[in-house]
Amino acid sequence: MKAYVVEREALIHNIQAIRRFAGLVPIWGVMKGNGYGIGLVPLSKLLYENGIDRFAVTELKEAEQLRELFPQAPILMLRSTADPAEIQKLLDLNVILTVGSYETAVAINGIAADRSTIAEVHLCIDTGMGRYGFFPDDVDKIASVYEYMKSLAVTGIFTHFHSAFCSEKATKQQFEKFQTLLEQLHAAGYETGMAHCCNSHAFLRHPEMHLDGVRIGSAFLGRLSFKERLGLRKIGYAECTLEELRTINKGQTVGYGAGFKAKGTMRVAVISLGWYNGFTAERENDLFRARDCLRGMLRYFKWLLFPKKILVSVNGHKCRVLGHVGMVHAVVDVNDIDCAVGDRVIAEVNPLTIKGLKVQYR
Ligand SMILES: *Cc1c(COP(=O)(O)O)cnc(C)c1O
Repeated sequence: MKAYVVEREALIHNIQAIRRFAGLVPIWGVMKGNGYGIGLVPLSKLLYENGIDRFAVTELKEAEQLRELFPQAPILMLRSTADPAEIQKLLDLNVILTVGSYETAVAINGIAADRSTIAEVHLCIDTGMGRYGFFPDDVDKIASVYEYMKSLAVTGIFTHFHSAFCSEKATKQQFEKFQTLLEQLHAAGYETGMAHCCNSHAFLRHPEMHLDGVRIGSAFLGRLSFKERLGLRKIGYAECTLEELRTINKGQTVGYGAGFKAKGTMRVAVISLGWYNGFTAERENDLFRARDCLRGMLRYFKWLLFPKKILVSVNGHKCRVLGHVGMVHAVVDVNDIDCAVGDRVIAEVNPLTIKGLKVQYR
């Protein structure tokens, strides 16, 4: 037995805290990556039951699943696609499309005209993320979408922050570029509809940037750097069983690379959780910038000198992992606790990195 357990109550707590903080501002539930690893279907249902009734996706498959569950809910495709087959299918599903370039606008406009329909779209503005979107100083190009694309109904406009988790300054700069563009478009007489820019970190840090909508993903899972602000909780853990108990003697080793050597006779337990299941993937650093690299290096040296213990909980007792975690196994020190084969073991993992674990809501 092994699973990733989602604690329904904690998840609902987070959803409600986020809703309260958003006030009257609509929330797009971002469902990419199979609902951040905890299942698009159960997560979206729980969001819907708790008042979040619009969704944002990055894949056609996600839009299909959501449309089946929620015939009326607004669904926004965040990726700007000019692929005709994909556009046709997204229009069949009544999905709001993203227009991030003039070419995409032309493609969608043409298909919508052929279908004798009006396609609802949001414009994507690239204020620094560098993947989709019009540049904010391409005002003429942006204006031409409003002006000439008669088969497009532009009901929204958005941008995406690249550093909301680490830099208020960069986020403010991006926000200003976005605001300036909005003002220019309004001055030229265009209705920009729903303007939105916040992801989870910006949502928590910058209430003044909520505008007409926010796009939230990781905050639901309580997985972000300043979750304390809203009292967001962890929503789950990996669970497995104690597979085998054994006694090893002085000098005997454990795991690949013989990473652990017993100093004396001790009782150890084999558990059915390894890096393939996302266990210890947590330790990886995000080395974004020079300063992160430096911090990463310092952390690594510190770790070499004072190896950080990886802990699991066996029957509620914290136990350290011995040696290196294997692909689907790890060995833990149970010398000082009562336990038996079949006992429950729980561990921290990032649900985005889990493989081979069934997600269970409890
Ligand atoms: C992933 C994503 C989000 C949500 O980001 P979180 O930080 O997980 O809330 C919002 N907008 C876009 C465009 C995204 O790709």
